[in-house]
Amino acid sequence: MNPLYAQMPTTIFEKMSGLARETGAINLGQGFPDSNGPADVIEAAQRALVEQSNQYPPMAGLHVLRQAVADHYRRHQGIDLDWQSEVTVTSGATEALAAAILALVTPGNEVVLIQPMYDAYLPLVLRAGGVPKLVRLEPPEWRLTEEALAAAFSDRTTVAILNNPLNPTATMFADTELALLARFAVKHDAVVISDEVWEHVVFDGRAHNPIMAFPGMRERTVKIGSGGKIFSLTGWKVGWMCAAPELTHALARAHQYLTFTTPPNLQAAVAHGLGKDDAYFTAMCADFARSRDRLAAGLEAAGWAMLPSAGTYFLSIDLAASGIPIDDVSFCGRLVREAGVAAIPVSAFYAEAPVTSVVRLCFAKIDATIDAGIERMARAR
Ligand code: PMP
Ligand code: GLN
Repeated sequence: MNPLYAQMPTTIFEKMSGLARETGAINLGQGFPDSNGPADVIEAAQRALVEQSNQYPPMAGLHVLRQAVADHYRRHQGIDLDWQSEVTVTSGATEALAAAILALVTPGNEVVLIQPMYDAYLPLVLRAGGVPKLVRLEPPEWRLTEEALAAAFSDRTTVAILNNPLNPTATMFADTELALLARFAVKHDAVVISDEVWEHVVFDGRAHNPIMAFPGMRERTVKIGSGGKIFSLTGWKVGWMCAAPELTHALARAHQYLTFTTPPNLQAAVAHGLGKDDAYFTAMCADFARSRDRLAAGLEAAGWAMLPSAGTYFLSIDLAASGIPIDDVSFCGRLVREAGVAAIPVSAFYAEAPVTSVVRLCFAKIDATIDAGIERMARAR
């Protein structure tokens, strides 16, 4: 077998969605809504497809989208970005992550990774020759501690990767935790690649605070966003990276050799969407929170023990607290085959010492899907 396969295994999303298709299961695994995103954003793409150029757009992205990203963050998060020197459009957050890691990690550099971590981080860091330094979070609080950060950071640290809100735990880091991470990054002169794709999917009146706004972080943060996540259009793959000019210069060099550009019509439509008023985002979050509560209430009534969800499309089951004596991978295998529900074992997000008692479910679904999922899960106990 090609030794690279061990570093780049088949993703858990591909595995579980494949099993869901094969078995006809309800897919509560991979995170995507089963309804369409906002009609006006889709119509803006349609218009752009017909009325605007379909040739290569500028390498760093359409001006209108880069301006919209800068305006959006000024309005929603109080960050001042110069769209010309600090915003680069990518083909999804996934490409932004790859570009940032390729630009900033060279062989032998240490990279602090907080696990559970989104599945793309580790393979990309390893392929760049980086040396992972793992920080382990544990349920039910999933909190970042000074001790764990002190053990992971060293003078060889060049990059730390943060995901906030955090997929798969559905938690948000407290300001004190972000300040702690910022302090370590400054002390060790490291850059934080901050994956904030879930920044707009936060519940119960919570506000997302970008680490870029913390002391000492403005010049050492790569802030990554995703139009697909903001507008519930996960197939669109329009993302961006925001960083100080010198970092942006390095990021753009990597971006040139990955995709170079991103479909212009989708960029134009995301630019249109980013101009939506606060009411849109408030209503979207309220809608997702309602789905979260529907799934949580149904599963709790069926005897499942749930962990709270502060943001993202996800909610987790605590297997041990639910009286299920098997590990998450065995449980998910059984659940998809016997009960007809695909879910994601959280151990897949660990490089070592996995937590094996938590299973992630996606609630970003229409009521009929959620209700059918609850009914099937009730029979799986
Ligand atoms: N980072 C995280 C934490 C994610 O959850 C996802 C996908 N949901 C991505 C990156 C990828 O985003 P995109 O689809 O824009 O590539
Ligand atoms: N981000 C999505 C999730 O966490 C999946 C994206 C993918 O399939 N790579 O479920």
